[in-house]
Amino acid sequence: MISLSSIRKTFQTKDGPVTAVDGIDLKIDEGEIYGIIGYSGAGKSTLIRMLNMLERPTEGDVVVAGRTLSKLRHKELRKARQEIGMIFQHFNLLWSRTVRENIAFPLEIAGVKKAERDKRVNELIELVGLEGRGESYPSQLSGGQKQRVGIARALANNPKVLLCDEATSALDPKTTDSILDLLVDINEKLNLTIILITHEMHVIRKICHQVAVMEAGRIVEQGPVREVFRKPKENMTKEFVKQITEPEETVDAITQMLIDHPEGQIVQLTFVGEEAERPLITQLIRQFDVEVNIVQGKITKIQEGSYGTLFVALNGEQAEIKKAITFIQNKEVEVEVIVHD
Ligand code: ADP
Repeated sequence: MISLSSIRKTFQTKDGPVTAVDGIDLKIDEGEIYGIIGYSGAGKSTLIRMLNMLERPTEGDVVVAGRTLSKLRHKELRKARQEIGMIFQHFNLLWSRTVRENIAFPLEIAGVKKAERDKRVNELIELVGLEGRGESYPSQLSGGQKQRVGIARALANNPKVLLCDEATSALDPKTTDSILDLLVDINEKLNLTIILITHEMHVIRKICHQVAVMEAGRIVEQGPVREVFRKPKENMTKEFVKQITEPEETVDAITQMLIDHPEGQIVQLTFVGEEAERPLITQLIRQFDVEVNIVQGKITKIQEGSYGTLFVALNGEQAEIKKAITFIQNKEVEVEVIVHD
């Protein structure tokens, strides 16, 4: 669906040239949710903006849905852009227009007739869960609702690709989750290819199939999310993995994961270290009505702590679960647990 070869972007500034993207090759398959993570200044925005030619590359080709965008002329490019939707951190809505009018805007530009436009807007409102809000103005909506309008508008022309530029960075964690759930839903329903950039590991972990880690205009590591974050090779990747090792978040994630899994479903827990004492772990799992295959482990005792918190004890000393990686979306769930010494 997307292919970038040797993409480079250099901005000329009064202090001299700044290379924001420094030779990137990237292939993204149809239907994939592809995350690009990096700190501020890594070149993520410039990269994603080159995918719909909001920025023209200084060097290299951008191919989207079989068209080499970097070689298209203005009129052809405008048409090609209809196949690429985009959503933004600050929503970029038209404040003087209602929800319906915002969503209808790209259809108007594409010359779609009023009756058809109205029908399409109704479908989109339903798709993003904004029923009853069609006549509201953006200022009357919550952040999450505004982003739903942004998503509906981006999907108006039935694009093949959706670009998400820090689309959840202005939202609180709960709203972020609901928007990410909506993106997964859309990806599955429409087989839409989604590319998102973020500096938040949580976003990548929750919905992406593939990830690229960016640093100083380059991709330093890439691959399936599970592999890249399970065995990070580069220091930058390790930094992002650290973001998800906060004990509290981890413990919540494991607890939630166990609660979320219906009875009889097999959950695979991978404990780092020596062979686990199976009965104790099985006892823990039984509380949550899930079946477990234990692969490896070194945990000797597990007890339930305060509500929503699990503690593990190593050699009789109480210790918290410190690190976990879960992939609930792919049904199989792996958890790596490292226990405090
Ligand atoms: P990120 O999205 O990862 O924060 P950006 O792509 O916004 O990174 O920026 C990468 C680098 O390119 C930064 O050093 C930034 O200052 C520079 N840059 C981005 N856009 C411009 C521009 N229009 N003019 C000059 N420099 C730019």
